[in-house]
Amino acid sequence: MYLRLEQDESVSQAEVTKALPNICYTSNVNLTDIYRQVILEHSQHPRNKGELENATMYQRGHNPSCGDELELHLRIEAGIIVKAKFTGVGCAISQASASLMTVLLEGQTVGTALELTKDFHTMMKGETPAESLGDAAALRGVAKLHARVKCASLAWQTLKVMLEPTEKI
Ligand code: ZN
Repeated sequence: MYLRLEQDESVSQAEVTKALPNICYTSNVNLTDIYRQVILEHSQHPRNKGELENATMYQRGHNPSCGDELELHLRIEAGIIVKAKFTGVGCAISQASASLMTVLLEGQTVGTALELTKDFHTMMKGETPAESLGDAAALRGVAKLHARVKCASLAWQTLKVMLEPTEKI
């Protein structure tokens, strides 16, 4: 079923909510089709979801405004993130964001990962996304949905809290 998430009198809010049960619905969602497709795909089939064996770092994050819970697990070897995985439950946007982030993190240095958290934060303020964000730029439309910014930012904020002390050592 094709749904336009813009305001459209031919599709009632109830129909949209039924079709997209995991989306935190907002009537003025204005994501383009391609961004929405990336987000839906990652929320329905999250990458890197599950426990990580031999994790060297672990951090919990929580977004009380939506109830999103996240545990982020990284394996870092010689300053490089060799694997990133996550567990937890949350809305579609928080899950898609964690999935997109873990894909992006693999092979990055700790310093680059921290830069990515800044780039993401800048995008959530409504700025044009940095190229470094790759597919995670699909979340740019969330910047307009103020109630959802915390959902999209949870994974990145959790990563920042985890890595900042590491960089100072
Ligand atoms: Zn959420």
